[in-house]
This record gives sequence, structure tokens and C-alpha cells, in this order.
Amino acid sequence: MSERPAITLRDLAAIDVGQLRGVGEKKRASLAAFDIDNVLDLLTTYPRRWVDRSNEARIADLVPGEEALVLVTVRSVSARRTRNRRSMVNVNVGDGSGRMQVVFFNQPWRERQLKEGLQIALFGKADTYRGGLQMANPIVDLIGDRTGRIVPIYPQSEKAQLNTWELAGWIEEALRRSQDRGIADPVPEQVLRRLELVPRGEAFATIHLPETMRDKETARRRLAFDELLRVQLVLVMRKRELERTEQGIAHTVDGELVRRFHEALPYPLTGAQERAISEIEADLATPQPMHRLLQGDVGAGKTVVAVSTLLAAVQGGHQGALMAPTEVLAEQHAAGVSELLGDLKVPDPGNLFGDRPLRVELLTNRVTGSDRKDVLAGLADGTVDIAIGTHALIQEGVEFASLGAVVVDEQHRFGVEQRAALRDKSDGHVPDVLVMTATPIPRTAAMTVYGDLDVSVLDELPPGRTPIVTKWANGPLLETEVWNDVRLEVDAGRQAYVVTPLIEESDKLEVSSAEETYQRLVDGELSGLRLGLLHGRLTAAEKEMTMDLFRSGQLDVLVATTVIEVGVDVPNATVMVILDADRFGIAQLHQLRGRVGRGQHPSTCWLVTQEHDGGNPRVEALVASTDGFELAEVDLDLRGEGTLMSTAQKGRSDLKLASLRRDRELVEQARAAAFAIVDADPGLSEHPVLLDELDLLFTDEDEGFLAKS
Ligand code: ADP
Ligand code: MG
Repeated sequence: MSERPAITLRDLAAIDVGQLRGVGEKKRASLAAFDIDNVLDLLTTYPRRWVDRSNEARIADLVPGEEALVLVTVRSVSARRTRNRRSMVNVNVGDGSGRMQVVFFNQPWRERQLKEGLQIALFGKADTYRGGLQMANPIVDLIGDRTGRIVPIYPQSEKAQLNTWELAGWIEEALRRSQDRGIADPVPEQVLRRLELVPRGEAFATIHLPETMRDKETARRRLAFDELLRVQLVLVMRKRELERTEQGIAHTVDGELVRRFHEALPYPLTGAQERAISEIEADLATPQPMHRLLQGDVGAGKTVVAVSTLLAAVQGGHQGALMAPTEVLAEQHAAGVSELLGDLKVPDPGNLFGDRPLRVELLTNRVTGSDRKDVLAGLADGTVDIAIGTHALIQEGVEFASLGAVVVDEQHRFGVEQRAALRDKSDGHVPDVLVMTATPIPRTAAMTVYGDLDVSVLDELPPGRTPIVTKWANGPLLETEVWNDVRLEVDAGRQAYVVTPLIEESDKLEVSSAEETYQRLVDGELSGLRLGLLHGRLTAAEKEMTMDLFRSGQLDVLVATTVIEVGVDVPNATVMVILDADRFGIAQLHQLRGRVGRGQHPSTCWLVTQEHDGGNPRVEALVASTDGFELAEVDLDLRGEGTLMSTAQKGRSDLKLASLRRDRELVEQARAAAFAIVDADPGLSEHPVLLDELDLLFTDEDEGFLAKS
């Protein structure tokens, strides 16, 4: 019939919601409060849940203590105040099978909302109360008088004066009006066929008005795929663009130096280390600069991988740099790497004896005077092979003869600008970059958040580790046992860390709380032991002195704020006590715990909390698992994606339906599809509608990138 082309998302975004029947000035404003301005916004406002009328629990089927959804009619509503002046709304509801009491505390507006005769869906836990059933503060959805087996429930707001059925009505109208032209589907046919995805137009219609729950799921999968594909396309295009425009070095990977290094190691590489090293070497060998993320739990052995990478650059006549986030960590790295390298010699054909010593230098702001001059001169003339330092390494005034590979420890503090700075460091070519992180990120999340990096994972710990036993000391009674344990270990010649409560709001408060804890332990629980105190307000020299004393065994117990979170390595420390552990996040607790279990003696991590009733899911997760990746999954489950996504750079707000934890397989499929599409058609010139969608849906920065390519 119609010759007009199918409607694109761009077309939908150009239709103001005001054009829909029943949307006047007032409703337009209400919709705007929901960020719904145009028909695309409307169609991508997905139901919060779907109520399947044929399959709901009835009141008679409710089991006390279990969560359930029931569809009921309001019979009567009354409000009063409790003795402690809280508002309380009592609602009597019923269905064909029985009646139940619902109470709302501190929600006085429920009295106005819930009128007699109204159909509502309640989701909550029923309990027995005075012989009958009662639900307290359930989630309430107004159903209105909608028909159909499956009723979509939209986000609704009392304040914005929007009902779920109004939204549903407008969405239906928008879908009906698009039917004639149909909604365009820019995703290549063969991708849809291979992944068995339904057409986009069908998916939009079905997600809002499914006939069965299974149809709804099929529609969701298709639309979630589109969201993920868009993110991956942006990332993959950026990645390919960098590879095209940046000139890197094709390193000599099968050289003598790396082989010597591996042969001299006192242990064989783990399978995971070998895999990561060969992935990295494959990148190093190509003339495109590497951008790779190396993920490995604390103690997984990232340093060996890092050093292999640097040596691969050195053996081809270039230099390597290792950058740490702080000076203390840079110094520790310098010491650790030098020890690891031993007296490794660089094969040197220009030298009569065939070999020359490898030159490794530390460069931080604390290296001054003639030492600094020496190092700078060595970097400039190429006699320094490996430089270890902070970001000071890529500051102005530091010249390299030929920087070939850079390893960055901890990705969070290494951003786009730093990456750009590297470009100017090495006579036109861009060094290969390996970013290391001990923050375990589930692989699919990493693909999305760091999707323009390739990822290698060290998912295997070196053998012979003594596992760390983690215990929860819930309340003061159990805390006594903690300090006894510390004393026992110290008596046996071991050492302990005590991490003082995290106070996010104030650095100053945190320090004074650390000081208080220190004093309390010195005078009380740990009197007679040798205690040291470490916190962020000490000078670098004071910190270093305390660390030295602890490292050399002249302190038994180190009381510290989270400044010890990363990098500190004292194998003789076997107890980690974390006070107010419930204030920390899972990732942070795991990092802190990783400070022990580094030597041959078994270690314990004590998580101390104020007395809790009931569970504490984060603390319990730590007790149950020492696997960082597993914990990262739990963390994602507990926190939702919000926090993870907020660390992402941009463009990820597009994920409305896709879930990085539920849709792992879909993330991988979207990424593979993005590679296939971009590699066949780098500028997406054969897919103008798809390209236009990226332009439409991504933020300024992404648009800038897309405009360039
Ligand atoms: P990460 O930086 O990943 O936390 P490190 O590189 O500091 O871990 O290594 C932790 C410890 O494991 C070090 O003491 C190191 O000597 C040891 N180690 C590394 N690789 C191996 C291996 N393949 N076999 C045995 N021990 C290893
Ligand atoms: Mg390390």
C-alpha cells in the first residue's frame, strides 16, 4: 500500500507527544517530567512489569513469609496515626478467594490513591497477623479497567499525575499509527537470522502488548540486543578507528631477552599467565598499538606479565615504562621488579661480550637533583631500558629515546588524556599500552564498560597458596576472639593489619577515628604489642617510615585506614582485621583481604561489625568466597548496574532493557555482531539508518567521535 519507507527511530523522535490524542499541555508537562518528550521516548518507556491475569496467586494461595503478586479489588480504606505518630493507612482488599488486610506506614497519600472498587496489583510478603493475612508496605500497581490477559504496568507517578493506563493508551496509539509504514529494522538480515531475533517492529509491539509471557521475553531479547549492539558498535568503531590512525611499533616478540626472563623465573608460568602473555605478544607483533586490559585478582601474578611486556619492547631496542597510581606503589614496584629481573642481561650485538646489563630506573617526584638528571638523560638517550614511576613519567620534560610499551597499574586513574599524552612521547608512533586491574569486572561488563580495550584475564592463582579463611565477628562478644587471634599470631611471629572504619564524608573524621582506634588498641585489647599507625594525612616520609618498620618486622600490628588497600606486600602478615566491615563495598573488602595470604602461613581475615540482626549480604559473600570474579558477580547482583555504569565513560545510559548480569550471552553476541558489521563496512556507509541511530542515541562525546569517522 504505502510507498513511504518504514519509520526510523529518528522519525519517531521527531514526533512530539503532543500530537497524540489526549495529550494536552498538562499531560505534556507530566510526560516531560518523566523525560518523555517524543514518540521514541514513549515507545522506549517499557513496562516495569507485566501482570499475567491467568496466572496470579489468589489471596487463598498466599503463603505467609513468601513474596507474591496478587490482583485484588479495594474494599475499604481508613487512615490513622500510630502511638509514635507515624501515619498508618489500612486497606481491606479482596478477590474471589478471600480477603486480606494491607497496611502502609508513612504513606499517608495512599488514602487518596486507593479508592474503593479500584483494581490493584500488590507485590509483597504476606504474614499472619491476628489470625488473618496481612501485607505491610507492598508494591502497588494500579491496573485500571484494562482488559487482556497480560497487563503491562508502566512506571507511574502520583506527583506527575500519570497513570499506567494512560501511558499504555498513548503507546498503543503510537504503535497503531506506525503500523502502516512499519518500524524500520536496520540490523542486517543475517545477524537477525543467525541469532534468531524477531523484527524490531514486532518486538516493539509485543513488549508493550504481549499475548504470552514467552512472547514478551522474545521481544525483550530483541530490543535488549539492539541496545547492546549500539553500545558495541560505538566502541568497536572507535577501536578500529584508533587502529587505523595510530602508528605503532611491530615488536620482535620471539626474542632472546623474554626467553631468558622466563627461563630464569623460579617457577613455571601458570596457564593463565601463558595465555595472557601470548595474547599480548600477538598484539605487540602487529604495527597497530595495543590497548589491552589485563584483569587479574590480587595475587594472580600480573607483575610477571607486565615485565614480559616491557621486556618485549626492550629486546627490539625500545624502552618500557611501568606507571603506578602513587609514589609508594611505584617504589614497591621498582623494588619488586628489580628483584624479579635479577641480573638479567640484554643480548647486545654491539658489545664485545655480547651482553649488557639491563637498566631499570625509578622516576617519581621524590627522585630529585643529580639522580633525577641522570635518569632523565638515560631516558632521552635510550640507556635506561625500563622506567618505573607515577604519571610523572609522561609529564612534560620527560623525553624517551623510543618508548615502546607502557604498563599502567590500576585503570581507574588512567584516562583519555593520559593516553593522548603517550602519543607525543615516542617520535610519532604510539606505544603499546597494557592496563592492569585487580578490580575484577565480570567479563561481559568489561566488554561494555571498557569495550574499546581488548581483555585478557588471569583467572588462575599460582599454585601453593594457603587460602585465606574469612570470619564474621558480629558484635562485641565475637570481637574479643578477634584480638585473641591477633595476639596468638603475633606470639607465633606473624603480623597483623587492622583497618579502621571508613568515613566517606570526611577525611578528617576518618583520621581521627583511626587515631582513636589506635589509642584504644594500644591501651586496651592489644596492649604490650608494637603498633604502628598509617593514614592519609601523614607525610609521604612518615608513611614510608612506618611501612619500612612493618615490613622489617619491627611492628607487630599496623593500624591503618584504607591507604593500605593496594599494593602493600608483606608476606609475614597473616591477619587482616577490618572494623565496621559493613561500611565497605565488596570490591574494597576483597582488595583489603588480599593484603594477607601472601606467604606460606595460613591467613585469616576478620570482618568486624556492630551487632546485626539478620544477614549482611556483602559480609556473607566475603565469608563464602575468595574468588574475586565470583564476588564481582555478587556485587553486580547486589548493587545493580548503576554503580558500575557510572564508572563508564559515556553512552551507556542507553541500556534500558539489557542487563549486564542477566544478558551475558547477549553482550557477547552483540559484540561479535558489531565486529562483523564494522569489519565489513568500517564507516557503516551501507547502514545509514544504523549509523544515524548511534548519532541519535549517544551523548556529545560519542557524537563527536562518530562525526570524525
Ligand atoms: P598481582 O600483582 O597480580 O597481585 P603479583 O604479580 O604481585 O600478583 O604476584 C603475587 C605473588 O605470586 C608474587 O609473590 C609472585 O612471586 C608469585 N607468583 C607469580 N606468578 C607465579 C607463578 N606462576 N607461580 C608461582 N608463584 C607466582
Ligand atoms: Mg601487583
